Amino acid sequence: MKQIAIYGKGGIGKSTTSSNLSAALADRNLAVMQIGCDPKRDSTRMLMQGRLIPTVLDLIREKGEANLGSSDVIFEGYRGIRCVEAGGPEPGVGCAGRGIIATFQLLERLDAFKGDVILYDVLGDVVCGGFAMPMRKGYAQEIYLVTSGELMALYAANNICKAIARISQNSRQICRLGGIICNARNTPGEKELVEAFAKSVGSRVLTYIPRDEIVQHAELNTMTVIEYEPESDQAGRYRELAEAVMTNTSFIIPSFLEMEELEQMGRSFLTPRSGVRER
Ligand code: ADP
Ligand code: MG
Repeated sequence: MKQIAIYGKGGIGKSTTSSNLSAALADRNLAVMQIGCDPKRDSTRMLMQGRLIPTVLDLIREKGEANLGSSDVIFEGYRGIRCVEAGGPEPGVGCAGRGIIATFQLLERLDAFKGDVILYDVLGDVVCGGFAMPMRKGYAQEIYLVTSGELMALYAANNICKAIARISQNSRQICRLGGIICNARNTPGEKELVEAFAKSVGSRVLTYIPRDEIVQHAELNTMTVIEYEPESDQAGRYRELAEAVMTNTSFIIPSFLEMEELEQMGRSFLTPRSGVRER
Protein backbone atom coordinates (compact mmCIF):
# COMPACT_ATOMS: atom_id res chain seq x y z
CA MET A 1 0.00 0.00 0.00
CA LYS A 2 1.37 3.35 -1.08
CA GLN A 3 0.63 6.25 1.28
CA ILE A 4 1.36 9.72 0.01
CA ALA A 5 0.79 13.16 1.47
CA ILE A 6 0.35 16.34 -0.49
CA TYR A 7 1.40 19.44 1.45
CA GLY A 8 1.37 23.13 0.52
CA LYS A 9 0.15 26.60 1.32
CA GLY A 10 -3.59 27.22 1.66
CA GLY A 11 -5.19 28.00 -1.70
CA ILE A 12 -2.20 26.79 -3.72
CA GLY A 13 -4.12 23.95 -5.39
CA LYS A 14 -3.58 20.93 -3.12
CA SER A 15 -7.16 19.70 -3.25
CA THR A 16 -7.48 20.28 -6.99
CA THR A 17 -4.22 18.44 -7.59
CA SER A 18 -5.01 15.68 -5.06
CA SER A 19 -8.47 15.01 -6.47
CA ASN A 20 -7.23 14.89 -10.05
CA LEU A 21 -4.36 12.64 -8.99
CA SER A 22 -6.78 10.33 -7.15
CA ALA A 23 -9.10 10.26 -10.17
CA ALA A 24 -6.20 9.49 -12.52
CA LEU A 25 -5.09 6.66 -10.20
CA ALA A 26 -8.63 5.30 -9.96
CA ASP A 27 -8.80 5.32 -13.77
CA ARG A 28 -5.86 2.91 -13.62
CA ASN A 29 -8.09 0.55 -11.64
CA LEU A 30 -6.26 1.22 -8.40
CA ALA A 31 -8.17 1.22 -5.11
CA VAL A 32 -7.75 4.78 -3.87
CA MET A 33 -8.61 6.51 -0.60
CA GLN A 34 -8.36 10.29 -0.20
CA ILE A 35 -8.27 11.81 3.27
CA GLY A 36 -8.79 15.56 3.52
CA CYS A 37 -6.65 16.84 6.40
CA ASP A 38 -7.58 20.51 6.18
CA PRO A 39 -10.23 22.24 8.30
CA LYS A 40 -11.46 23.73 4.98
CA ARG A 41 -13.01 20.24 4.50
CA ASP A 42 -13.43 20.53 0.71
CA SER A 43 -10.63 18.19 -0.33
CA THR A 44 -12.91 15.48 -1.72
CA ARG A 45 -15.72 17.68 -3.06
CA MET A 46 -14.85 17.22 -6.75
CA LEU A 47 -14.78 13.46 -6.26
CA MET A 48 -18.21 13.60 -4.58
CA GLN A 49 -20.11 15.52 -7.30
CA GLY A 50 -19.77 18.74 -5.33
CA ARG A 51 -20.97 17.32 -2.05
CA LEU A 52 -19.29 18.44 1.16
CA ILE A 53 -19.29 15.20 3.09
CA PRO A 54 -19.69 15.27 6.89
CA THR A 55 -16.38 15.56 8.70
CA VAL A 56 -15.10 13.02 11.18
CA LEU A 57 -14.75 15.69 13.85
CA ASP A 58 -18.37 16.85 13.38
CA LEU A 59 -19.60 13.26 13.48
CA ILE A 60 -17.64 12.57 16.67
CA ARG A 61 -19.18 15.68 18.24
CA GLU A 62 -22.70 14.66 17.15
CA LYS A 63 -22.73 10.92 17.70
CA GLY A 64 -19.73 10.08 19.86
CA GLU A 65 -16.63 8.26 18.62
CA ALA A 66 -17.72 4.84 19.83
CA ASN A 67 -20.96 4.98 17.81
CA LEU A 68 -19.34 5.58 14.45
CA GLY A 69 -18.84 2.91 11.79
CA SER A 70 -17.08 2.95 8.42
CA SER A 71 -20.23 3.90 6.52
CA ASP A 72 -20.64 7.03 8.66
CA VAL A 73 -17.24 8.49 7.82
CA ILE A 74 -16.14 6.95 4.50
CA PHE A 75 -18.00 8.00 1.34
CA GLU A 76 -17.59 6.51 -2.09
CA GLY A 77 -16.90 8.97 -4.88
CA TYR A 78 -15.61 8.88 -8.45
CA ARG A 79 -14.80 5.30 -9.49
CA GLY A 80 -15.13 4.04 -5.95
CA ILE A 81 -12.55 6.39 -4.41
CA ARG A 82 -13.06 6.24 -0.64
CA CYS A 83 -13.36 9.80 0.65
CA VAL A 84 -12.86 11.06 4.21
CA GLU A 85 -12.74 14.61 5.59
CA ALA A 86 -11.08 15.11 8.97
CA GLY A 87 -12.63 18.53 9.57
CA GLY A 88 -11.56 21.10 12.12
CA PRO A 89 -12.47 22.67 15.43
CA GLU A 90 -15.34 25.07 15.92
CA PRO A 91 -14.10 28.52 14.88
CA GLY A 92 -12.16 30.24 17.62
CA VAL A 93 -11.72 27.25 19.89
CA GLY A 94 -9.54 24.20 19.90
CA CYS A 95 -6.56 23.03 17.94
CA ALA A 96 -6.80 22.76 14.14
CA GLY A 97 -4.63 19.66 14.03
CA ARG A 98 -6.91 17.80 16.41
CA GLY A 99 -9.26 16.74 13.62
CA ILE A 100 -6.44 14.82 12.01
CA ILE A 101 -5.43 13.03 15.20
CA ALA A 102 -9.05 12.08 15.99
CA THR A 103 -9.64 10.95 12.41
CA PHE A 104 -6.58 8.72 12.33
CA GLN A 105 -7.52 7.11 15.64
CA LEU A 106 -11.01 6.37 14.37
CA LEU A 107 -9.80 5.03 11.01
CA GLU A 108 -7.36 2.77 12.89
CA ARG A 109 -10.18 1.39 15.00
CA LEU A 110 -12.28 0.80 11.87
CA ASP A 111 -9.32 -0.87 10.14
CA ALA A 112 -9.93 1.51 7.25
CA PHE A 113 -6.37 2.21 6.12
CA LYS A 114 -6.64 -0.10 3.12
CA GLY A 115 -6.29 -0.05 -0.65
CA ASP A 116 -3.55 0.46 -3.23
CA VAL A 117 -3.00 4.16 -2.62
CA ILE A 118 -3.95 6.41 0.31
CA LEU A 119 -3.61 10.09 -0.41
CA TYR A 120 -3.52 12.65 2.42
CA ASP A 121 -4.34 16.23 1.39
CA VAL A 122 -2.82 18.32 4.17
CA LEU A 123 -2.76 22.03 4.94
CA GLY A 124 0.85 23.17 5.00
CA ASP A 125 0.76 26.72 6.36
CA VAL A 126 1.17 25.38 9.87
CA VAL A 127 3.06 22.19 10.51
CA CYS A 128 2.01 21.74 14.15
CA GLY A 129 1.81 18.28 15.68
CA GLY A 130 -1.61 17.63 14.18
CA PHE A 131 -0.77 18.59 10.63
CA ALA A 132 2.56 16.77 10.87
CA MET A 133 0.74 13.62 12.00
CA PRO A 134 0.58 11.96 8.53
CA MET A 135 4.38 12.12 8.31
CA ARG A 136 5.26 11.83 11.99
CA LYS A 137 3.43 8.61 12.70
CA GLY A 138 4.61 6.79 9.60
CA TYR A 139 1.33 6.97 7.70
CA ALA A 140 2.65 8.82 4.68
CA GLN A 141 6.11 7.73 3.69
CA GLU A 142 6.11 9.87 0.56
CA ILE A 143 5.59 13.62 0.73
CA TYR A 144 4.90 15.83 -2.26
CA LEU A 145 4.87 19.61 -2.08
CA VAL A 146 2.60 21.77 -4.20
CA THR A 147 3.93 25.24 -4.88
CA SER A 148 3.82 28.05 -7.38
CA GLY A 149 6.54 30.66 -7.89
CA GLU A 150 4.94 32.97 -5.32
CA LEU A 151 7.23 33.72 -2.40
CA MET A 152 4.74 32.66 0.27
CA ALA A 153 3.97 29.38 -1.48
CA LEU A 154 7.71 28.64 -1.61
CA TYR A 155 8.00 29.73 2.01
CA ALA A 156 5.34 27.19 3.06
CA ALA A 157 7.00 24.47 0.94
CA ASN A 158 10.33 25.33 2.56
CA ASN A 159 8.77 25.03 6.04
CA ILE A 160 7.52 21.57 5.21
CA CYS A 161 11.03 20.62 4.07
CA LYS A 162 12.19 21.78 7.49
CA ALA A 163 9.52 19.62 9.15
CA ILE A 164 10.47 16.53 7.11
CA ALA A 165 14.16 17.06 7.96
CA ARG A 166 13.35 17.36 11.68
CA ILE A 167 11.01 14.42 11.76
CA SER A 168 13.53 12.24 9.92
CA GLN A 169 16.17 13.19 12.49
CA ASN A 170 14.08 12.62 15.57
CA SER A 171 12.10 9.53 14.80
CA ARG A 172 12.53 6.13 13.31
CA GLN A 173 9.61 6.74 10.96
CA ILE A 174 10.41 6.84 7.29
CA CYS A 175 9.09 9.95 5.65
CA ARG A 176 10.80 11.33 2.61
CA LEU A 177 10.27 14.08 0.08
CA GLY A 178 9.27 12.53 -3.25
CA GLY A 179 9.28 15.75 -5.23
CA ILE A 180 7.73 19.11 -5.94
CA ILE A 181 4.64 19.75 -8.00
CA CYS A 182 4.65 23.16 -9.65
CA ASN A 183 1.05 24.36 -9.87
CA ALA A 184 1.52 27.46 -11.97
CA ARG A 185 0.36 30.93 -11.04
CA ASN A 186 2.29 32.39 -13.97
CA THR A 187 4.64 34.49 -11.85
CA PRO A 188 7.87 35.79 -13.46
CA GLY A 189 10.35 33.02 -14.25
CA GLU A 190 8.11 30.62 -12.36
CA LYS A 191 9.15 27.29 -13.85
CA GLU A 192 12.87 28.06 -13.49
CA LEU A 193 12.40 29.49 -9.99
CA VAL A 194 10.51 26.44 -8.72
CA GLU A 195 13.13 24.21 -10.36
CA ALA A 196 15.90 26.18 -8.62
CA PHE A 197 14.08 25.90 -5.31
CA ALA A 198 13.60 22.15 -5.75
CA LYS A 199 17.29 21.74 -6.53
CA SER A 200 18.35 23.81 -3.55
CA VAL A 201 16.44 21.56 -1.13
CA GLY A 202 17.90 18.49 -2.86
CA SER A 203 14.77 17.51 -4.76
CA ARG A 204 13.28 18.00 -8.21
CA VAL A 205 10.11 19.17 -9.93
CA LEU A 206 8.07 16.07 -10.55
CA THR A 207 5.43 17.63 -12.77
CA TYR A 208 4.56 21.11 -14.01
CA ILE A 209 0.82 21.75 -13.95
CA PRO A 210 -0.15 24.80 -16.01
CA ARG A 211 -2.69 27.35 -14.84
CA ASP A 212 -5.69 26.64 -17.05
CA GLU A 213 -9.25 27.84 -16.81
CA ILE A 214 -10.46 24.34 -17.55
CA VAL A 215 -9.93 23.83 -13.80
CA GLN A 216 -12.64 26.44 -13.12
CA HIS A 217 -14.96 24.88 -15.72
CA ALA A 218 -14.55 21.47 -14.14
CA GLU A 219 -14.94 22.94 -10.64
CA LEU A 220 -18.15 24.77 -11.52
CA ASN A 221 -19.47 21.50 -12.90
CA THR A 222 -18.37 19.85 -9.63
CA MET A 223 -15.97 17.43 -11.28
CA THR A 224 -12.26 16.82 -11.52
CA VAL A 225 -10.68 17.74 -14.86
CA ILE A 226 -10.05 14.01 -15.34
CA GLU A 227 -13.78 13.38 -15.23
CA TYR A 228 -14.92 16.59 -16.93
CA GLU A 229 -12.65 16.52 -19.97
CA PRO A 230 -10.45 13.43 -19.94
CA GLU A 231 -9.00 14.20 -23.39
CA SER A 232 -7.82 17.72 -22.44
CA ASP A 233 -4.13 18.66 -22.11
CA GLN A 234 -4.72 19.47 -18.44
CA ALA A 235 -6.12 15.99 -17.76
CA GLY A 236 -2.98 14.69 -19.50
CA ARG A 237 -0.84 16.63 -17.01
CA TYR A 238 -2.64 15.05 -14.06
CA ARG A 239 -2.18 11.60 -15.63
CA GLU A 240 1.51 12.46 -16.09
CA LEU A 241 1.64 13.28 -12.37
CA ALA A 242 -0.02 9.95 -11.53
CA GLU A 243 2.58 8.14 -13.64
CA ALA A 244 5.43 10.12 -12.02
CA VAL A 245 4.15 9.30 -8.52
CA MET A 246 3.65 5.61 -9.26
CA THR A 247 7.09 5.17 -10.84
CA ASN A 248 9.01 7.45 -8.48
CA THR A 249 12.16 5.97 -6.96
CA SER A 250 13.79 9.16 -5.72
CA PHE A 251 13.02 9.97 -2.09
CA ILE A 252 15.17 12.27 0.00
CA ILE A 253 15.52 14.03 3.33
CA PRO A 254 15.41 17.64 2.15
CA SER A 255 17.50 20.56 3.25
CA PHE A 256 15.89 23.98 3.58
CA LEU A 257 16.64 27.65 3.04
CA GLU A 258 16.59 30.78 5.17
CA MET A 259 14.02 33.44 4.26
CA GLU A 260 16.78 35.73 2.89
CA GLU A 261 18.00 32.95 0.61
CA LEU A 262 14.46 32.37 -0.66
CA GLU A 263 14.01 36.07 -1.37
CA GLN A 264 17.38 36.24 -3.08
CA MET A 265 16.45 33.28 -5.23
CA GLY A 266 13.10 34.86 -6.15
CA ARG A 267 14.80 38.16 -7.05
CA SER A 268 17.28 36.43 -9.33
CA PHE A 269 14.42 35.35 -11.60
CA LEU A 270 12.94 38.83 -11.90
CA THR A 271 13.83 41.33 -14.59
CA PRO A 272 14.97 44.41 -12.61
CA ARG A 273 12.68 47.43 -12.97
CA SER A 274 14.48 50.44 -14.37
CA GLY A 275 14.93 53.35 -11.99
CA VAL A 276 14.04 51.31 -8.91
CA ARG A 277 16.61 50.45 -6.26
CA GLU A 278 16.88 46.67 -5.79
CA ARG A 279 18.28 45.00 -2.70
P1 ADP B 1 -5.93 24.23 -1.61
O1 ADP B 1 -6.53 22.89 -1.47
O2 ADP B 1 -4.43 24.20 -1.65
O3 ADP B 1 -6.42 25.20 -0.58
P2 ADP B 1 -7.50 24.38 -4.03
O4 ADP B 1 -7.15 23.10 -4.70
O5 ADP B 1 -8.81 24.47 -3.34
O6 ADP B 1 -6.34 24.83 -3.02
O7 ADP B 1 -7.35 25.50 -5.14
C1 ADP B 1 -7.73 26.85 -4.94
C2 ADP B 1 -8.36 27.35 -6.23
O8 ADP B 1 -7.35 27.45 -7.23
C3 ADP B 1 -9.42 26.40 -6.74
O9 ADP B 1 -10.69 26.98 -6.57
C4 ADP B 1 -9.10 26.17 -8.21
O10 ADP B 1 -10.12 26.70 -9.02
C5 ADP B 1 -7.84 27.00 -8.47
N1 ADP B 1 -6.80 26.20 -9.13
C6 ADP B 1 -6.02 25.25 -8.59
N2 ADP B 1 -5.15 24.75 -9.50
C7 ADP B 1 -5.40 25.41 -10.67
C8 ADP B 1 -4.83 25.37 -11.99
N3 ADP B 1 -3.82 24.56 -12.29
N4 ADP B 1 -5.36 26.18 -12.93
C9 ADP B 1 -6.37 27.01 -12.63
N5 ADP B 1 -6.93 27.12 -11.42
C10 ADP B 1 -6.46 26.34 -10.43
MG1 MG C 1 -7.80 22.17 -0.02
